[in-house]
Amino acid sequence: MGKWFAQRKKWNAINLTADLRKYEINAMIKLSVLSLLFATLTCALFAKSGPAIRKEIKEENGRNVEYMFIDGIKVHEKDPEKQPQPPVVEPKPYDAKSSKPPKGAIVLFDGTQKTLKNWQATNGGPTKWKLVDGALESVRGGGYLQSKKKFGSCKLHIEFATPREAKGSGQGRGNSGVFLMGQYEIQVLDSYNNITYPDGQCGALYGRAKPLVNASRGPGEWQSYDVTFHRPIFNEAGKVTRKAKFHVIHNGHVIHDHLELSGGTGWKGPHSISEYKKHGDKGPIKMQDHGNPVRFRNVWVVPLPEV
Ligand code: MG
Repeated sequence: MGKWFAQRKKWNAINLTADLRKYEINAMIKLSVLSLLFATLTCALFAKSGPAIRKEIKEENGRNVEYMFIDGIKVHEKDPEKQPQPPVVEPKPYDAKSSKPPKGAIVLFDGTQKTLKNWQATNGGPTKWKLVDGALESVRGGGYLQSKKKFGSCKLHIEFATPREAKGSGQGRGNSGVFLMGQYEIQVLDSYNNITYPDGQCGALYGRAKPLVNASRGPGEWQSYDVTFHRPIFNEAGKVTRKAKFHVIHNGHVIHDHLELSGGTGWKGPHSISEYKKHGDKGPIKMQDHGNPVRFRNVWVVPLPEV
């Protein structure tokens, strides 16, 4: 009898331990689920998945005109009350050392006839752009210029000078552009004492983002862009799954700080800009002919590994 009681006591102890373990495991699972739920809700509340884009169609003179708003600001908004001009800053002195191509860089243009061969017209034919004093100069009606080599994510150094004689105003003064993958434009404009809509001034990611500051030099002076670009990625269905990212330094000042590009930069209308459209993994470096003789020099690229 005594033996039976001892055995029973032992079983009770084992069962009690097992029940306790079960209770502990259940409690741990519940706690984990609750933590996960809390983390998800916190992320949803505080994560910014990019600017809010809103579109409106207005009828004007019998035509439908698209109005696009990025974080509540109309594309190409000119009213400084609604979209303030970026503050004007003193450009940093030209840094000859950091302007030199580093090891591993692909030199696209170094002022020589030899490197002019790295470029072509957009139809693949010879370019009409001219080699003037060691610089590539755009020719009115000559079309865009593009590199024969194509790039995805990369670092780009490029120098430019708007015409010494500052003719025209707004978008009509010293207009050109530098395009990554042949389509994402960093605006080139004479923005020295020349007001235009901020998302279209020198250094703007055209129509999408104004520069943080206006670091422009005067007409005819050499300026630089140092760009770190991460290309967008699209899925099979053509939807962008990773947006392009820009980090841009203009004359030594950061004007876009690891900025995620919300869409395309193609002019779609007076208040509207293009959307992402699926394209390949690589594209050329392209410069715009906008009718003004803008010059370029010292162009090199360091391809970045895809992550
Ligand atoms: Mg342009």
